[in-house]
Amino acid sequence: MVNQNMLKLGTNRSCIRELFEYGLRQAAIVGKENVFDYSIGNPSIPAPPEVNESFVDIIRNTDSLAVHGYTPAPGMPAARDAVAAELTERFGLPIRGANIFFTCGAAPALIAVMRALNLGESEFIAIAPFFPEYRPFAESNGAKLVVVPADVPNFQINWTALEASINARTQAVIVNSPNNPSGVIYTRETLERLAALLKRKGEELGHPIFIIADEPYRELVYDGEEAPFIPTIYPNTIVCYSYSKSLSLPGERIGYICVPDCVDDSATVFAAIAGGARASGHVCAPALQQRVVARCAASRPNIRAYDENRAVLYEALTSYGYDCVKPNGAFYMFIKAPGGDAQAFSEKAKEKNLLIVPGGDFGVPEYFRICTCVSPEMIQRSLPVFKALLEEA
Ligand code: PLP
Repeated sequence: MVNQNMLKLGTNRSCIRELFEYGLRQAAIVGKENVFDYSIGNPSIPAPPEVNESFVDIIRNTDSLAVHGYTPAPGMPAARDAVAAELTERFGLPIRGANIFFTCGAAPALIAVMRALNLGESEFIAIAPFFPEYRPFAESNGAKLVVVPADVPNFQINWTALEASINARTQAVIVNSPNNPSGVIYTRETLERLAALLKRKGEELGHPIFIIADEPYRELVYDGEEAPFIPTIYPNTIVCYSYSKSLSLPGERIGYICVPDCVDDSATVFAAIAGGARASGHVCAPALQQRVVARCAASRPNIRAYDENRAVLYEALTSYGYDCVKPNGAFYMFIKAPGGDAQAFSEKAKEKNLLIVPGGDFGVPEYFRICTCVSPEMIQRSLPVFKALLEEA
């Protein structure tokens, strides 16, 4: 016998990965140039040169035993200090190395934080559209994921629904801005209103309600927009950051949790997160990657290619008649399915080798997601297919 929940998680494939793998098989049959794969969020720009150079230089010039050895569980002091200094300088909130816990990316960071905050059947609130993995992260740990319906079509926050979903069991609201899948950035005004609501509710309930800020897309912002650093607006914020998208290193598994001093009882929260990580098998984040971050904490990606793809796709698809909020962050677009059934629309698109992700798992079944981290050539080849699909709908 095996655990039935784990069996379900291991066998019910994510629809994104199914589509991605279908695309690979289909490319072998009809030719790569005839498959338009918008399914998976794998960065399409290379890591900044200084990042790759740091990998090589560290391997060449650092003692091999040191490079590959275990580091302390929260990370190497030099790497923690470099991240803290960069955050402090950038956002004006004092962050110390001791506030930083390195993880293997944002996914294990979220799990460690949810473990640390789960008092047994605690509730974590996700605001649709949301990253589908939040559900197994919460539920595998005995907590509950409560979904607040989307604020369509702007994808900010449905305030009535959010307030109604908060109760004595609520431990945190997960905020993912810039957002996967909508590409929307929560405005400062939205975040201030959220902060006021959570403060009031926390006082009424007699315990703090945390924000878990899930921030893999922090650096991917366009049009001079601002993605506010949430701890400066709401002190009880725990940040889960990842270099997967910001430095195009998704396979290298590196990110961190930041528990600023302004979090209530921050040392206890930090220690519980260390426990949550330990209980998930965390030993330390990859040592080589920590060393690279220590050198490149201030490196930024050149996001021009994403920006250009975003402009071309938004312009073309809206001119055909598709309905979509203009994304100002991340590398996704969330588009209303003609007819309102994104599952059916995605099936039709698949027949034409156009791979788009229906929004059901993101909590918005009338919308579909496309990734804009793709090649400009593929975009050009795919536009007539988008147009034809709309005409046939
Ligand atoms: N959170 C969101 C919103 C994501 O889109 C992703 C990855 O796509 C993750 C978390 C997990 O990122 P990581 O690769 O750092 O584990």
